[in-house]
Amino acid sequence: MDNNGIKDNLRPPAAKKIKTDNFGITAILSDDYKKDITLMQVHSCEVESKQQLQAVIKELALKLPHFQHLKRVHERNVLICPSDDIKDTLEQHLQLHQISENVLKTLCRNVNVIEVPASSAKLRVQYEQMTKYWPCKFHPDKYAESLQNGSNFTVSQRAYHKRMAELLWKLSKDVNDGQNVGICVDPRRPSIVAIAGDGSSHQHCVMWLVDHVARSQRGGAWQTDQQFVKDEPHTKSTLSGLPQIFYDYLKQDAACQDLRLGAELPRREEQQPQPEPVEDIHADNLCKYGPYLCTGYDVYLLREPCLMCSMALVHSRVKRIFFLERSDNGALASKFQLHAVKELNHHYEVFQFTM
Ligand SMILES: [Zn+2]
Repeated sequence: MDNNGIKDNLRPPAAKKIKTDNFGITAILSDDYKKDITLMQVHSCEVESKQQLQAVIKELALKLPHFQHLKRVHERNVLICPSDDIKDTLEQHLQLHQISENVLKTLCRNVNVIEVPASSAKLRVQYEQMTKYWPCKFHPDKYAESLQNGSNFTVSQRAYHKRMAELLWKLSKDVNDGQNVGICVDPRRPSIVAIAGDGSSHQHCVMWLVDHVARSQRGGAWQTDQQFVKDEPHTKSTLSGLPQIFYDYLKQDAACQDLRLGAELPRREEQQPQPEPVEDIHADNLCKYGPYLCTGYDVYLLREPCLMCSMALVHSRVKRIFFLERSDNGALASKFQLHAVKELNHHYEVFQFTM
């Protein structure tokens, strides 16, 4: 769980062996997906006849178009407007919005102040809770539901994620003095593109990891004494994002022999397909254009990243982040949910391994 205020470099080495059999993988979703719903006060009224009801609905839809997420009418009760919108009296408010005399009279009879859900339901569980207050509109989002109930991964995908969790633990303990470790994976194959650990240089492992991924694309800006794997000539994929020390460990560990290593090489200009029209906006850019930053890649981290590292992963356009332990200064679950900030121009999904 969290690190109880122990500094990363003072942390004791991780336990000898972890059991991933009972692991869950929980999506860290924004507060919009939380079970607790928020309510708002609204003015409503009971209308006496069907004819009145028709006239009222027509005019309200035009002049007070509130409550898109709710049904406007329930039995003969009509939602008029949020109570907070009314500055003086309901009658004055309706006059201000040029409601006709007849409808105004109807709306000002049998008035009640009631509580209704303040926003739309994202998940069925929220919808079911909301309809207890007032009938709601609901458009089920299959993918959001699957994230919430954990059915978004296939059995083999889940097994691979758990292997990466186990590997983080082992690499941290056996190679990196119990310090934070990160692994970047191309999930299409799946194949390990880069590995990095917190080092003596005070740079967090995520920053190194992003730089190691850049090495696999013939970039990488940071100077380091670390040795990296050198590629064979005419190779089809590259191991250059892997520090030798991690690579050697994987090669000597019998349990890792079937793990695929290496990244697709960056494609040359002439191999780049021309951008296609907008309907392809959701197509997988990694498949289409080849490696670019961390586009389409997954990142596995022993510890929840800090704000700086989480932001670096936004800039790198990572697809998904998986982490094992929360951190006091974690920016994805503990202190903030950076990935839930709508204003950012890229959003990754975040998952935590849970016992
Ligand atoms: Zn950090």
